[in-house]
Amino acid sequence: ASGYSLMRDPRYNKGLAFTEKERDAHYLRGLLPPVVLSQELQEKKMMNLIRQYEVPLHRYIAMIGLQETNERLFYKLLIDNVEELLPVVYTPTVGEACQKYGSIFKHSQGLYISLKEKGKILETLKNWPERTVQVIVVTDGERILGLGDLGCQGMGIPVGKLALYTALGGVRPSLCLPITIDVGTNNEKLLNDEFYIGLRQKRATGKEYDELLQEFMYAVKQNYGEKVLIQFEDFANHNAFELLARYSSSHLVFNDDIQGTAAVVLAGLLSALRLLGGTLADHTFLFLGAGEAGTGIADLIALEISEQNGKPIEENRKNIWLVDSKGLIVSSRKESLQDFKKPWAHEHEPITGLINAVKAIKPTILIGTSGVGKQFTKEIVEDMASFNKTPLIMALSNPTSQAECTAEEAYTWSEGRAIFASGSPFDPFEYEGKTFVPGQANNAYIFPGFGLGVIMAGSIRVHNGMLLAASKALASQVTEEHYEKGMIYPPLTNIRKISANIAAEVAAKAYELGLASHLPQPEDLVESAEKCMYSPVYRSYL
Ligand code: NAP
Ligand code: MN
Repeated sequence: ASGYSLMRDPRYNKGLAFTEKERDAHYLRGLLPPVVLSQELQEKKMMNLIRQYEVPLHRYIAMIGLQETNERLFYKLLIDNVEELLPVVYTPTVGEACQKYGSIFKHSQGLYISLKEKGKILETLKNWPERTVQVIVVTDGERILGLGDLGCQGMGIPVGKLALYTALGGVRPSLCLPITIDVGTNNEKLLNDEFYIGLRQKRATGKEYDELLQEFMYAVKQNYGEKVLIQFEDFANHNAFELLARYSSSHLVFNDDIQGTAAVVLAGLLSALRLLGGTLADHTFLFLGAGEAGTGIADLIALEISEQNGKPIEENRKNIWLVDSKGLIVSSRKESLQDFKKPWAHEHEPITGLINAVKAIKPTILIGTSGVGKQFTKEIVEDMASFNKTPLIMALSNPTSQAECTAEEAYTWSEGRAIFASGSPFDPFEYEGKTFVPGQANNAYIFPGFGLGVIMAGSIRVHNGMLLAASKALASQVTEEHYEKGMIYPPLTNIRKISANIAAEVAAKAYELGLASHLPQPEDLVESAEKCMYSPVYRSYL
């Protein structure tokens, strides 16, 4: 191969780090300036450059540019500077990037499957250059973060999520495939945007939608086999629950918004119990938002309580309450509720307004999964602090603009007593001389390690037991030192170690459940997780 094509291929390019010998061996003489830099120095230079961009979107564009020119350097940056760069390639900045995706679009990343590819999806998959794929993250763009329908421009999400699969979970980039399914968009602004990259039509629904999705699911299995993990991401809930139910008995599917969120929040709750006291069964939960995230979390909490106390799950649902856009979910509304809400329709008089629900239910734990910002008002937080010594408040909606309240609000309105975690990151906050470090309750803690565990074991299905295992593995990584700062999640700096532990527990569960196909089971699963993780350090081409 000519040196020129080596240099132009992001998978092999090392930029100025090609050594003298490599330059000789691969016809690179003269194609590069004389200096030879180490990868460390390149990293330092790129970090300096990125820090000069004050507009977050410019940092995003710089990172994507790096991913497309020098993949290993991109991952080295992301791995070594995870706390700083996660908000750039992931929430919140990725949200803005999706909104403006058409305007900033340069090189195509991932695979687009639109209604135009109907009947040709298998052929389309074969256009992807990699024969072996282990993780697909797929969206149809209908509910991107809390930003709504962004159509084809939702591609930023699968691309970003898979970057985290590699950086945080160690899955090789070549094994990851981002896919966007384009069935149109109902977003008028995008339909009228001259730079919009998707089909310029209203969303296909019903049979047309189902058929495209079915063709896609079959084609993926035919092309990549049984053991490719398909992660559904940011589908609207009217499709998300159905897709998961329909394909979970025939495919290795995982819905990150329902299941990944549930696992990460349960982990935070299990770890928070050390500060709150009691068991999960002793607490009363109130959710704002009864969609994928809200009901997914609620389900997993009830399941975990049942594992602990042996009582039927119906019994354990009783202390878990959800509010949707119409008010508290109660039994008198049951007939008109979507199926995924029905288990939560408890006996109670109808209540509208979150504040009234808070007053009536008196939750010990308040969780925001509505996608609507600023819903946890001063009065609500003060109420929580009036009947709880240590109120736990989780504002999970992304991006930051949609958070139900800020860290500062939670700490000041509760006079420094709240434990706070949020979906998008907030800076530490000082209140009356004490520094509080808010936890980031984000699925980024779970899905990379979860996926790695599934892949390691060669699991052919995802099982709830594997989600519980992931939660416990994450919770066990929180130490006294973290609790002292009010943190209920470990810092992201150690995320690779955390992911290896999660992967090991998930894989162990898969073996236990008889779902694993990679036999025999390795003796030390943590060690084997760490061993198979991708390293971004340059390889020698000699
Ligand atoms: P979803 O399925 O669309 O659910 C949204 C829910 O919020 C629905 O039940 C909806 O009510 C309710 N809602 C909307 N506006 C409301 C209002 N003004 N008052 C009360 N309830 C209201 O969305 P989702 O997938 O659950 O995601 C919701 C949010 O969670 C998004 O912002 C997303 O970014 C975030 N999220 C965060 C993480 C994380 O890791 N932190 C993970 C997943 C999702 P109706 O049912 O009546 O329409
Ligand atoms: Mn999501």
